[in-house]
Amino acid sequence: MTEHGTSSKGATTAHAPAHRAVLRFAPSPNGALHLGHALSALTGYEMAQRLGGRFLVRIEDIDVGRSRPEHVAGIFRDLAWLGITWEEPVLFQSQHFADYEAAAARLAAMGLLYPCFATRAEIAAAADSNARDPDGAPLYPGLHRGLGVREIARRKALGQPFAMRLDMQAALAAARRMTGDAPLTYEALDETLAPRTVAAAPARWGDVVIQRKDAPTSYHMAVVVDDARQGITHVVRGLDLLPATDVHRLLQVLLGLPAPLYHHHRLLLGSDDLKLSKSRGDTSLAALRAQGLTPTDIRRTIGIER
Ligand code: GLU
Repeated sequence: MTEHGTSSKGATTAHAPAHRAVLRFAPSPNGALHLGHALSALTGYEMAQRLGGRFLVRIEDIDVGRSRPEHVAGIFRDLAWLGITWEEPVLFQSQHFADYEAAAARLAAMGLLYPCFATRAEIAAAADSNARDPDGAPLYPGLHRGLGVREIARRKALGQPFAMRLDMQAALAAARRMTGDAPLTYEALDETLAPRTVAAAPARWGDVVIQRKDAPTSYHMAVVVDDARQGITHVVRGLDLLPATDVHRLLQVLLGLPAPLYHHHRLLLGSDDLKLSKSRGDTSLAALRAQGLTPTDIRRTIGIER
């Protein structure tokens, strides 16, 4: 193992960074950080230190309606309390909408995007009840794929809101053409930083949203653009985002962006075995701190220190 996480043979693979590692913690400021975020941030921060790399914080505030300045302030306070330091300036995604729009425009110019006016209820009604995406949502049944130009113009003239979706089959075909039929894969690292090649299967997401109805981007588009812009070499995040990596890899190929290495860490389960979520204030770091817990207590609770 070299300090850059290449294989023990020391061979530099196409994915292994030859430069200093760059890692990031990328929370969405629509709630207080909880124990799951502490695990994510500390896993990334400690991996950055092991690699002698840089550590960034990115505020993923594309959902401007749900993002709150007090949550941004809380994120910085909690991270500093945990003993994490990061480089300034912090990137706020809400300040970079034009860049995500430009990336979406490239996909549109390749003929890979189409407007979808369907409401959540229309999608649920038209979807096959057995077909779910990896998040458990009804798989989009292609409702507005192939809508005619006149129908699109009519709906736009009526002011109907629309999302821009990726035509998944067309996107996969384009990616195959661009890579000379190479399989779509990425490199995943385990806790020891040993790499493993994983096959990406983005088709299980169907025609994913690239630009939301209420925002000029989606999570997928923004994360891919920013991981490339910030030169992220190692993406560290929870296993809940493992399936999304398949979409990210496809977008990286289509946009000609480099592939970071990925480490998806275990998830913390609440007492009822549900994934911890921000709505469960009882596990917020601020609440635990107010109860007198120390950063060491937090590390023990999340199982990274005895
Ligand atoms: N903003 C995402 C979240 O808070 C994480 C994005 C990522 O790490 O790729 O769940």
